[in-house]
Order: sequence, then C-alpha cells, then structure tokens
Amino acid sequence: MTSYARLIETGNYYEGVFCTDCTIAHENGDISGAGETWSQVEFINACSDYDIVVDSDEIDEFSDSTCFGCMTRLAGVRYGVVAVLRSDLDYVVSLAKLTPVQEFPCPVPPISL
Ligand SMILES: [Zn+2]
Repeated sequence: MTSYARLIETGNYYEGVFCTDCTIAHENGDISGAGETWSQVEFINACSDYDIVVDSDEIDEFSDSTCFGCMTRLAGVRYGVVAVLRSDLDYVVSLAKLTPVQEFPCPVPPISL
C-alpha cells in the first residue's frame, strides 16, 4: 500500500474541486489559456502544502462550487480533486521507514565473501 493510499484509507484527505484553469495548470503546467482574473500566485499558495490528484471521473459540467486552487466561484466546469497534506505524506513515509525489517525475513542467509 502506498503512503497516499494509506492516508486515504485513514480519512486523512480533503475532497474539493478545481476549475478548468486550475485543472489545466495542475495537470499540464499550462497557464496560457487561464482567465484574466486567474492568479498563478494564488493557485500556488493554495496548493503548495498539498499533494493533489484530479479525479477525472468526478466532473460537474456546471457548478459554482468554490475552486480549491483559486477560490473562484464563477460558474463553470468543476473537476473533483483529492488532496493530502504533504506533511502527512512525509509522516507516513517516515513511519514506513521505521517498519522493522524482521517482518519479512530473508530465507536465504547472506553470502559471505
Ligand atoms: Zn481554480
């Protein structure tokens, strides 16, 4: 199980939505088509603490739900996102590193040279 999956399983995640501009910025790094009011700085500030996955199965064709990235409420397409805090990911990874290696002992003794 990945660290990300472990956080999802334990409920340590957030669900939200991205507008089209934030989805394209997140997925492709392309901001050339972003609207005049869209702010890359705001997007980075809102998202920098999170590891975000866009759920392409969760699309609302017309919504005014607040965008997780830019906070816009302008009506338009919204894409579902799942976000976990990077600090939580780091914590889970650190726990995984502390897992005793004796849990899966190697049946073959090491070769001595
Ligand atoms: Zn947005």
